[in-house]
Amino acid sequence: MKLLDEYKKLRFVLLFIGMLFPVFIDNVISEENLYLAFPYCGASLFLVYMGLFYNFKPQMPTRMRSDLEFREYEVPISGWPENSRRLIENQNLMLNALLAFLQEGVFIYDIAAGKVNWSKRAAQILSTEWQNLGNSFDYFHSLIMENDWLEFRKNISKSLETLRDFSMEVRSSSNSNLFSIFCKPETDSEGCPVRLLGCILAKIETPVHSIFIDALTGLKSKNFFMQRLEEETAYTLRRPDYLYAVILIDINNFSCVNDVYSRDFGDGVLKIIAERIASFCNTTDCTARIDGDVFGIILHDLLSNRENQKITDFARDLYSKITMPLQLFGKDFQINVSMSVVINRDTDKSNTAEGMMSCARILLHELNTGETRGGVKFFTSGLREKAVLLYKMEYDLRKAIQSKSFSLVYQPVVDITKGNRVVAFEALVRWNHSERGYVSPFDFIPIAEESGLIVPLGNLILQEACTQTKKWVDLGYKDLRVAVNFSAKQFAQENLIETLDGILCDTGLSPKNLKIEITEYTAINDSKRIIEIMRQLTNMGFEISIDDFGTGYSSLSYLKYLPVHTLKIDKIFVDSIADKKEDAAFVRMIIGIAKSLHLDLIAEGVENKEQLDFLLAEGCRQIQGYYFSKPLEPAAALDFLRRSNG
Ligand code: C2E
Ligand code: CA
Ligand code: CA
Repeated sequence: MKLLDEYKKLRFVLLFIGMLFPVFIDNVISEENLYLAFPYCGASLFLVYMGLFYNFKPQMPTRMRSDLEFREYEVPISGWPENSRRLIENQNLMLNALLAFLQEGVFIYDIAAGKVNWSKRAAQILSTEWQNLGNSFDYFHSLIMENDWLEFRKNISKSLETLRDFSMEVRSSSNSNLFSIFCKPETDSEGCPVRLLGCILAKIETPVHSIFIDALTGLKSKNFFMQRLEEETAYTLRRPDYLYAVILIDINNFSCVNDVYSRDFGDGVLKIIAERIASFCNTTDCTARIDGDVFGIILHDLLSNRENQKITDFARDLYSKITMPLQLFGKDFQINVSMSVVINRDTDKSNTAEGMMSCARILLHELNTGETRGGVKFFTSGLREKAVLLYKMEYDLRKAIQSKSFSLVYQPVVDITKGNRVVAFEALVRWNHSERGYVSPFDFIPIAEESGLIVPLGNLILQEACTQTKKWVDLGYKDLRVAVNFSAKQFAQENLIETLDGILCDTGLSPKNLKIEITEYTAINDSKRIIEIMRQLTNMGFEISIDDFGTGYSSLSYLKYLPVHTLKIDKIFVDSIADKKEDAAFVRMIIGIAKSLHLDLIAEGVENKEQLDFLLAEGCRQIQGYYFSKPLEPAAALDFLRRSNG
């Protein structure tokens, strides 16, 4: 008999109605409708049977279905019969013994009781004491990133609805640890979920570790920093009064430190700065190296963590600490930095991590290009408008890269000693913005550089330039070279060689038809690594040319060590060779250097006959400039090529 189960009310109602049937039998059944007696009695017996014996489907615990509160919920067993109580207590003891002994990170979530049991090993994996985990998910929640927690809850609800297993990764909120979680719902004999079994594994493999930790300084990596920033922006969506700040710190003239002293010295400086930053911040803050010589800080929860200290004081104190004189390899040394501070309440871009970063970068850019380089600057509403414009540009660039809305034009380089024959083209990118129309590369390339978008954009450009060049080579212009501009970040990317290899493979172009153009600044920055890349490229058969030669670096001695083929004299010298004696002398000197080092030379931005005559007289044969041609669309470039070279 099931009279007292969870459907007892329904059962009593059924019994009551079933028993009413015999009471009213005289009123319902008479001699005329005697044939009804059998179904009438049958219905009565059926209702009584249902009330006493029918197996209704057990109800699902409502807590489990709708609100996964995960609160500890004690089942009161004290009033239970003695032997049932003992049995349950014994089971609990056994479960605990098992969980202490298990060598796996395991948790068992009892859905009806809302109780979670953790294995001891799970606590070790989570780097905490076993008792901290308690009998709920509360402490676990505090250990992991908020977004991962929300995802975890969502997955549990879904898994209980669909009775499917799930697996996911969660990130620690305080360090770079990563955990894998596998969950499996368990059902009773009726197919209703009763518990969830979970397995937790630490996932601190080396590659993941290096994704989140900067190997040189031990601070967090850019990857980790951006994820934390996304967490902070997620808080502000839930708590509009939540305050946090992003700080970027850029070391001024760091490339010179590497160059003048040594790479090891430069690394030493970075490590000291990293230590100074880390020791000045709270453990709840995030300190990271987000680019070669740029550090980033996220100051978490300003109101709770820095009640008595104004953020302005904090930033200035930090600036003083970082710029204190330092001693390294027996040398006294002092650096200067630019430091930008953005508090989320001061910008309307605070609802995305990228919005906050672009404000901080714009500010840094202002500091770096100002008359007095360095110092601390706070993002204020005055900068907002500018930030909005730049932010919009970055956003549009991102979209334009996705939709490949860029094209290339080609400017001929002619040899004036060979009947103005075209020896090369320079590929130049064009962006026709849907609202603004033509945007100069001088305006968008620096933004692409700063935001890192130059890498995907550069790859698009390279792919297009190689495809086009291959078409010309196939038309018979076997020795034609097309020069592609590479900006510093693009040139320094880890997998440059593989990318180039892949593109040549895709397009079938030979490396001898491609010329890589880097600026003088790129070539001498971070010299050892760059020289190594340049060596590999020249070994592969590429030629390298140094763009804007003469504008960047004062010492020319480095040219001896660089595997380069061509120097391009910058337009600013060419502009005034006819009327400025110093510029004429400078150009003469560059021509002399190129000759003595057996380097090719191209004069850029040649616009008139006077300039041309001067260059011809001094022995510069290769000319690029409006005098011969502006950059041309591919079809016009081919016409030009046919007219000049036949
Ligand atoms: P750059 O590499 O020094 O390119 C030469 C620039 O001078 C081009 O401007 C070209 O159109 C212009 N120019 C050439 N001859 C003359 C002349 O006789 N008179 C005048 N007034 N200008 C001349 P553009 O195409 O606007 O490019 C500007 C800069 O943008 C380039 O300077 C380069 O730094 C960057 N850039 C252009 N295309 C690319 C690209 O595909 N990738 C990268 N990373 N940067 C690019
Ligand atoms: Ca160039
Ligand atoms: Ca140039």
